[in-house]
Amino acid sequence: MRLFFRTSVILILLFTASLFAQRLDNKYFQENWEVYFQFNIQSPIELQKINSIVSIDKLDQNVVYAYADEKGYNQILDLGYKLEILPHPGDVENISMSGNLTSIEEWDVYPTYEAYVQMMQQFAANYPNLCRLVDAGTTVQGRNIFFAVISDNVDQHEAEPQFMYSSTMHGDETTGYVLMLRLINHLLTNYDMDAQVTNLVDNLEIWINPNANPDGTYRTGNNSVSGARRYNANSVDLNRNFPDPADGLHPDGNAWQPETIAMMNIAQQNNFSLSANFHGGAEVVNYPWDTWSRTHPDNLWYRFISRRYADTVHANSVSGYLNDLENGITNGYAWYRITGGRQDYYSYFMRGREVTIEISSTKLLSGAQLPAHWNYNKKSFLQYMENALYGIKGIVTDTSGNPVKAMITVNSHDFDRSEIYSDSLTGGYLRMLSPGTYSLTITADSFYTQTISNVLVSNFNAANLDIQLIPNHPIPVEFVSFSAEVNSGAVTLKWTTATETNNKGFEIERSIKNSKLKIKNFEPIGFVNGQGTSTELKHYTFINENLLSGKYAYRLKQIDFDGSYKYSNIIEVETNPVSFVLEQNYPNPFNPVTKIKYSIPTSVNGDWSGVSLKVYDVLGNEVAVLVDEVKEAGKYEITFDASELSSGIYLYRLEAGSFIKIFKMMLIK
Ligand SMILES: [Zn+2]
Repeated sequence: MRLFFRTSVILILLFTASLFAQRLDNKYFQENWEVYFQFNIQSPIELQKINSIVSIDKLDQNVVYAYADEKGYNQILDLGYKLEILPHPGDVENISMSGNLTSIEEWDVYPTYEAYVQMMQQFAANYPNLCRLVDAGTTVQGRNIFFAVISDNVDQHEAEPQFMYSSTMHGDETTGYVLMLRLINHLLTNYDMDAQVTNLVDNLEIWINPNANPDGTYRTGNNSVSGARRYNANSVDLNRNFPDPADGLHPDGNAWQPETIAMMNIAQQNNFSLSANFHGGAEVVNYPWDTWSRTHPDNLWYRFISRRYADTVHANSVSGYLNDLENGITNGYAWYRITGGRQDYYSYFMRGREVTIEISSTKLLSGAQLPAHWNYNKKSFLQYMENALYGIKGIVTDTSGNPVKAMITVNSHDFDRSEIYSDSLTGGYLRMLSPGTYSLTITADSFYTQTISNVLVSNFNAANLDIQLIPNHPIPVEFVSFSAEVNSGAVTLKWTTATETNNKGFEIERSIKNSKLKIKNFEPIGFVNGQGTSTELKHYTFINENLLSGKYAYRLKQIDFDGSYKYSNIIEVETNPVSFVLEQNYPNPFNPVTKIKYSIPTSVNGDWSGVSLKVYDVLGNEVAVLVDEVKEAGKYEITFDASELSSGIYLYRLEAGSFIKIFKMMLIK
């Protein structure tokens, strides 16, 4: 592949000598977004500076292949390098395109952009239980960055490791684009039929983003990938645009691009355990780090999974495929340093594990060659995903079984942010490791740190380890029970606490309800002192007496000495007077005001419709009407003002249904 490539370069240079090392005008960059070129270096030390000016595409001995925008191109010229402009890898004519989903599913053509969108929507529509579409964001030119999320129970976020494939963030590296579409289709159509696929879909949450830079891929329009470009529409290399462990948040000096932000959002909203990012222009699995020379704590494991990917490809491909560098694998920095790459961002900032898979030496592969590349890589695609089923895995919870986001550190092993976190929503975690015996430390805010020793990890196995963390602070006041008993017009509240810390006491709050009124505001009716601090069971009682008939709601407001408080649950009770009662007025004799109390029971049969309480003189003349209306069941007290009447004996009569009672009273002025 490479020999062929060089020969073609020489041929083109013979005919295009005028392009040799010349300045390019602004119009060139407006039309082309970027320029592709090569030049020689004397020493690898020069790369440090070159790397910050242009996008190094690959390094072959002392030959640098690079892309640049106008500024970078002029800067590198000014440094005195003799640049040879190369045909742009995306400028390939006669690329087979199709807008028809049926013909695209022969997998030997590129989809139009509209067909791509339609296909992603169809996956979700045709397999609603297995696939949902996530729109991660919009590109500079308004295209979508889609993920197909594939899992059993795909609408639930289960405690399963999250896995991600993404491709074509360099828009002209298109092989992975079609292969990822085909992989989505393969997973969906083979679920429940192929054991390996079913196992993956059942036990992982799989995120696949076929194209992370559709503006670059469709630079010349939605109907063709001919003329595809590496950069996004702002002429930014997206794989130099991420925060970098060594060079900071903006290693390329550019603002984060919309495409970068979309990928960062997806990473931060999820907890991906493992991912891979497909590129082209070489054939090699590239593992971290790209930005510095020191090795990742999981270097052995990274080499193992990379080697396995390449070996499986070799067993399924023509000889000579995927054999760059160490027969198809390389440490990123050992090949050539890049900064701002997504691999290091995910591996460092997101604590994930990501490799970069350069899947075809030819960036814009012809449609006819796509099926062969699928066959070369298909087994490796699935095998690589299976890595997220192995290692130490389980769920971190508190003592009540609630999920806890905890940091899991492999003792005497982790550094450079290789510790991982359990998922905040499910508590699920996965720590992939090379075979060995490990000791883990689990830490989380508000919980005691836990160490677990002698955890055995072997190849292609999961060591299941659920972890329960114990709170390191007493729960301020923990209610064990809160109940109410009703006994003829009195409510007895009883509650028990298991632990108390700094507890001043309990304010008892009551709300009165009746059938006409909705729940009223709670009002304080009493206070019971707490125990301060206690770890023993404590029992409390409060009696609310002399209640009118009705419905009541109670709650406890537990108040700390520092004034903070929290409420218990609410309990509701109903009280009834035992029977009709009319009481003797008080005071009696009176001048001129007295009070009369009476009770009305709940109307079980509805056989009375109203209550009347009237006052008569001794001749039977009605002199006052105190009550004449339908009343709720309950106890009542009414004030009778006799200032208009003269001294003497009066009668008062209560009538409610069949209940009639009369008392005498004496007014003395
Ligand atoms: Zn690339």
